Amino acid sequence: DSVAQNYERGKKLGEGTYAVVYQGHRRDTATTVAIKKIKVNADYKDGLAMDAIREVKYLQELSHPNVIALHDVFSKNENLHLVLEFLPGGDLEMLIRDQNVQYGAADIKAWMGMLARGVWFCHENFVLHRDIKPNNLLIAADGEVKLADFGLARSFADPYLNMTHQVITRWYRPPELLYGARQYSGAVDIWSMGMVFAELLLRVPFVAGNSDLDQIAKISEAFGTPNKDNWPGVEALPLYIETDKNSIIPTSGRDFFLRQFPTAGPVGADLLMSMCTLDPRKRITAVQTLRHDWWTIDPQPTKNADLPRKR
Ligand code: ADP
Repeated sequence: DSVAQNYERGKKLGEGTYAVVYQGHRRDTATTVAIKKIKVNADYKDGLAMDAIREVKYLQELSHPNVIALHDVFSKNENLHLVLEFLPGGDLEMLIRDQNVQYGAADIKAWMGMLARGVWFCHENFVLHRDIKPNNLLIAADGEVKLADFGLARSFADPYLNMTHQVITRWYRPPELLYGARQYSGAVDIWSMGMVFAELLLRVPFVAGNSDLDQIAKISEAFGTPNKDNWPGVEALPLYIETDKNSIIPTSGRDFFLRQFPTAGPVGADLLMSMCTLDPRKRITAVQTLRHDWWTIDPQPTKNADLPRKR
């Protein structure tokens, strides 16, 4: 592949379950990049991976400040390589977990704003991210937060899994996917965004189930039991289990969110609540989140240069 010749690979930056990431640079411009070598499962190197490659080609056309840029794709020694924008600022998970990092409502508003704009742009272009979590929100040298690690990268390693409800790390997974919905929409990303918002406020994952069933139980405890009254049609989903009438937990209202997330303020709590709506059809959409009052009321979002950094 001649595209491979355009890049020089440098030191290894890290390794995930399905990829090894290297620093690198373009030979002609010396631009620093990240080169992600996907561990392609031998079984579907040929046929099925073509779909994923087509999807990657589409992603290459998308350009937005809050979406990681995909500069190139090439194969070398039978391995698929993604040439990505170099983002050396770590990720939001590192900042949430590091007790030496202090941040407040204005910082959360800045980070959530960048996340919301990235998600809006993807959805406008018919792309679902499908795996939004703090660890996939990478930070540029200038503090800008970017959506990274699109689920499709994983589809190279495991295209079958990607087609089912087994997308999205459990704690950020919306109830419709836990119930086995096969058709889903941008609402899956909005739920995950809500879970990131809650985690930024609490500094611990908000609903951390230790199995899929436990995840549904914890979602029910927090937000109310999904049932045909608050979510018409839920009873038809493949993995839905009806809860005994006497055990139904009522749907959480404003007061719950205010009490649980005091730092969000009443308007922030209202936005979070609308992202945590059980019925995906009633959940707020990306474009609606951007029109919410929370962005414009005080405190104003922190400027990128003043945002807390990785140490
Ligand atoms: P994980 O899901 O464990 O983060 P990844 O394969 O996505 O695994 O990435 C492995 C590591 O490589 C990350 O922890 C990060 O340190 C680094 N990395 C990934 N993408 C980039 C990038 N675009 N720029 C700089 N470093 C990156």
